[in-house]
Amino acid sequence: MHDSDSTRAPPPDARPPKRAPHRDYTPQLRATLRFVFVVALLAAAGYWAWHQPFMAQPRAIAALTTASPPTTLPMPVDGVSAARVADTYGAPRGRDRSHEGVDIFAPRGTPVRSTTDGLVVGVRDAGLGGKQVWVMGPGRHRHYYAHLDGFAEFLEVGDLVRPGDALGVVGDTGNARGTPPHLHYGVYGPEGAFDPLPLLRAHDADNAGASR
Ligand SMILES: [Zn+2]
Repeated sequence: MHDSDSTRAPPPDARPPKRAPHRDYTPQLRATLRFVFVVALLAAAGYWAWHQPFMAQPRAIAALTTASPPTTLPMPVDGVSAARVADTYGAPRGRDRSHEGVDIFAPRGTPVRSTTDGLVVGVRDAGLGGKQVWVMGPGRHRHYYAHLDGFAEFLEVGDLVRPGDALGVVGDTGNARGTPPHLHYGVYGPEGAFDPLPLLRAHDADNAGASR
């Protein structure tokens, strides 16, 4: 039988065909892949943890920190229109204080509600404000609800609130004792207190426009 290959068999002194110089990249490739895998795993674990219920608070704080502060605010006291609220922001109070908020008069026991999304950072009975609630809202503005007659049931520091969530009821605690019951409402930005009344009025105006 004729073996055609035998005719092309290499001469005895031929060397194996010369291969291009070759480095073995496999160890580096494996290390890189391992690194990418670990990073992806950590990212997935972080993503998972961030979205678990126990991270709701840090998540809310991050969201509130990056959110811009509202340009209008709903009335924090049920049944009161902003037009009825006197502009007493900055009015002198005693010798060395000025009024850092507005007073919203309503019958004792009228519900007081959060004006914003926020994190409850203070629920206490102390000093001038008496029974008071502090809420950290969008843009890390602090909202101060004071002279409350009582707190909303189960309300505590660390709670997340939405606009309209109950915080307490109107009263005359703190240095308002004996005066007609009212909510003292103050808002503090990074530069300190500012007048919330224009924002309350803007909200009422928006709603009037919407219902027309
Ligand atoms: Zn006041």
